[in-house]
Amino acid sequence: MPLRSGRCVHCRCLFVLNPRLKDQRYCGRSECQRARKRHWQRTKMATDADYQLNQKAAQKHWQQEHPSYWRDYRKRHPGYAEGNCRLQKQRDQRRKILAKMDTSSRINHVKAGTYYLLPCSVDLAKMDALAQKITLIPESYNQPGNSCKQGLDCLPETHAR
Ligand SMILES: [Zn+2]
Repeated sequence: MPLRSGRCVHCRCLFVLNPRLKDQRYCGRSECQRARKRHWQRTKMATDADYQLNQKAAQKHWQQEHPSYWRDYRKRHPGYAEGNCRLQKQRDQRRKILAKMDTSSRINHVKAGTYYLLPCSVDLAKMDALAQKITLIPESYNQPGNSCKQGLDCLPETHAR
């Protein structure tokens, strides 16, 4: 039987096909064999619910047997922890900016005072409006150390402006 060749889908090199294997798409290099296994596992995880459950159970079991693995991993790979730290800082920064946008663009446009709640579709003259007092709470109220055991009632009047 003549030898046939194929092109490895991982490293793109030509290799001699093993006549006993059908659908051989990876060459014999260990790197390509690892890639083949990864691809197989990914496909299996996506298509086989039983396999997925088994893998998750095995992972959980392994983590229980090696509780300090990630702590040690971060010690052995300081760059990994720094990268995580930097990403977390970026997330915190973004959250701060969003929070600022939120208070300045929406809440501060509401002035303290008495407002009447009315459904839009009703004749105003026949309507008993429900008065609602709106009190603006200063941002500093939300700071740590300013917590108030009595709730909002003890806010000084001067803040409600
Ligand atoms: Zn290859």
